[in-house]
Amino acid sequence: MSYDPNNIFAKILRGEIPCDKVYEDDHVLAFNDIEPQAPNHVLVIPKGAYCSFDDFSAKASAEEIASYIRAIGKIGRDLGLSSCGYRILSNIGQDANQEVPHLHVHLVGGKRLGRMLSSA
Ligand code: AMP
Repeated sequence: MSYDPNNIFAKILRGEIPCDKVYEDDHVLAFNDIEPQAPNHVLVIPKGAYCSFDDFSAKASAEEIASYIRAIGKIGRDLGLSSCGYRILSNIGQDANQEVPHLHVHLVGGKRLGRMLSSA
């Protein structure tokens, strides 16, 4: 899958559309989901052009990967979620219903989230 530079998160990264920013560093941007599924629902994205976690894990530099993982943990701590817990997930491709083709981790918390998946 080639990267589509017109996806909505690419537009956010270029400053063409606004976001409710939560965190930013050299490699990472995080912002609140526009349709939150829980009291805390943050999307964490790398600044590099990666379609999904599959693409990122294969092509990103060690520095980008470390920055991304550290940022996710820091955001969870900064939101005060470490002690009560939270969930991270990333949808990859068709079977997971990935809607935006730029890697994003959903960081969700602030309430009891229940089991991860309903029964098949
Ligand atoms: P996914 O199905 O994993 O690709 O999730 C895409 C997520 O992006 C959904 O939770 C949407 O609510 C969210 N989303 C779409 N557009 C925006 C936007 N402009 N700002 C913030 N979140 C968005």
